Amino acid sequence: MITRLTDKIWIVEGGKSGRYPYAHSLYVADGGGILVDAGSDPAEIERLRKENGIAAVVMTHYHEDHFTFLSRLPDTPVWSSAADAPALESLETLLAWYGVLGNEWEAFYRKVFAEKFPFAPRKVARTIADGEELRFGDTRAVAVVAPGHTPGHLCLHFPDDGVLFLGDYDLAAFGPWYGDAPCGIDAFRRSARRLAGIAADRFVVSHEGPVHRGPIAGKMTAYLAVTDRREEALRNLLREPRTRAEIIARRLIYGPGHDGPWFDYSEWALLSKHLDGMLARDEAVLRNGAYRIKSPPAPAQRGLPPDGHQGFIVCGN
Ligand SMILES: [Zn+2]
Repeated sequence: MITRLTDKIWIVEGGKSGRYPYAHSLYVADGGGILVDAGSDPAEIERLRKENGIAAVVMTHYHEDHFTFLSRLPDTPVWSSAADAPALESLETLLAWYGVLGNEWEAFYRKVFAEKFPFAPRKVARTIADGEELRFGDTRAVAVVAPGHTPGHLCLHFPDDGVLFLGDYDLAAFGPWYGDAPCGIDAFRRSARRLAGIAADRFVVSHEGPVHRGPIAGKMTAYLAVTDRREEALRNLLREPRTRAEIIARRLIYGPGHDGPWFDYSEWALLSKHLDGMLARDEAVLRNGAYRIKSPPAPAQRGLPPDGHQGFIVCGN
């Protein structure tokens, strides 16, 4: 289904309301037709190609649910940020940046990228830099490169139309994804706050309800707070030493009933970022293959934080 945000800026809604494995696309009906991402609806994309034209596909980033149908447009130039281009150009880089090269998930992801989300490497015809102004006919877009979800996640701001395409800074209840190998929580937060500070009337996201009316500062704060809850759950789990396998099996993020390598991978991709931070801040230790939270410095009795936090004190060091 296509809905028109403006005369020239359309949303190609993905299947399942844009829930994974689908992602909404944007279509700019100007400058020969620009499709932003190719994971929405193959029939609508084909109709656009035939009836309206697709002069280029702009990829917000290299994730599988955004390139799903890209291989059906083999002759259309692909544009992306310079930082994300290597993963669109090479399966080996894609696997490395998912963080699955050389571990137990490599074979699974090779199959995923061969079958369910067919990956065909594409030479990126034009790389786009942060702040660059793009002209699609009379339609003006400013590139906002927002590292954290991927190294060069590309958002598009249409200042004359009051529209900002946020891509996978998607404000969804699940919370942020910062699990790719070159990415992390701090970069994600910085980018999310920067995006929320851009003045626009309508913010378009890749998943679920596609349009959020601005301002979105409150929604972005709630979205980022999911990250804090994940870290709190992990802290609680690590009152006792836990191995990588035990952490993965606990399903702190996806919950019970979500089995298989996709969830194993995703749990670890996200939680390992929290562990990296906790180790770097000397809040946790890794000893004999097990992670454990360190006890905080002994607080003065009257300075004890409220419930919940006191639990960390008993685990000793
Ligand atoms: Zn993504």
